[in-house]
Amino acid sequence: MKQALEKIELLAKAELEKITDAEQLEAFRIRFLGKKGELTSVLKQMAGLSAEERPIVGQIANRVRGGIEAELAEKAAQLKAETAARRLREERLDVTLPGKAPRLGKAHPMDSVMHEIEDIFIGMGFDIVEGPEVEYDYYNFEALNIPADHPARDTQDTFFITDNILLRSQTSSVQVHVMEDRKPPIRILSPGRVYRSDAIDATHSPIFHQIECLVVDKGITMANLVGTLDTVMKRLYGEECKIRLRPHHFPFTEPSAEVDILCFNCGGKGCAMCKGEGYVELLGAGMVHPKVLANCGIDPNEYSGFAFGLGLERVTMGKYGINDLRLLYENDLRFLGQF
Ligand SMILES: [Zn+2]
Repeated sequence: MKQALEKIELLAKAELEKITDAEQLEAFRIRFLGKKGELTSVLKQMAGLSAEERPIVGQIANRVRGGIEAELAEKAAQLKAETAARRLREERLDVTLPGKAPRLGKAHPMDSVMHEIEDIFIGMGFDIVEGPEVEYDYYNFEALNIPADHPARDTQDTFFITDNILLRSQTSSVQVHVMEDRKPPIRILSPGRVYRSDAIDATHSPIFHQIECLVVDKGITMANLVGTLDTVMKRLYGEECKIRLRPHHFPFTEPSAEVDILCFNCGGKGCAMCKGEGYVELLGAGMVHPKVLANCGIDPNEYSGFAFGLGLERVTMGKYGINDLRLLYENDLRFLGQF
């Protein structure tokens, strides 16, 4: 038995040398010290020993067990240290490497221009008002002096939900809501999406954006309209910006005008962008038609007002020199990131 124990002692030492990881170490522990391990199976035979031999063999057995346990603990500590050292080596952080900068988002150019325009009007005492995009025929056409048989409906063909409900073709519908709900003086700006059944090309889209302006008060004249437009355009495009009014016709204003601004590309000399005109068409404007005021319960003999609606896409394209409307909707970050 003494020999068997010493053999185990030597074998354990040799086996321990070969161990390189925690898994092997655990297998070693079970093999030598476990309940069904080699040492235990030898010790089970101690019952057959004589009373003199038993303490001697017991002593040896304890020494062998203690030795193996001590070496096992030492090996475990050594493995742990090695693992820690390896992790330190492998997971070392190189603080000299360049960092990964997060990509910052920014406002869409149309949003930037819209906020700029809103700020200009808020500074002049206007309220920002939003209206529904799904609208009754009455608010989009009828109340704005465009009855069912009016030819202006052809140029504003939109998407109908029922015969009577449609997607608004212009933000002018908000004028009617505001005049129904408020008493003059009224000074509002209403930005929003509008819809027309147009095919997509460089200057058309079935969804686009308008910004509507409405002022109603006592004694409002064409001079107020021109002064307001001149101020806004100079703020938006710079002090050298000039506007020009041409007579026009809209059913909901009388008199009406098309408003052009001095071509920012050629400064009025004439170029391809302004088609040699020196001016670029920007928006439609006019004095609110007396019938529209009356439709909304405002006495046209007491009050007058002006209104204009400008296309956000057109203003944005002009401001940044963008020549194709589709670029604003395609959400290509390489394009949008420039502004
Ligand atoms: Zn020009």
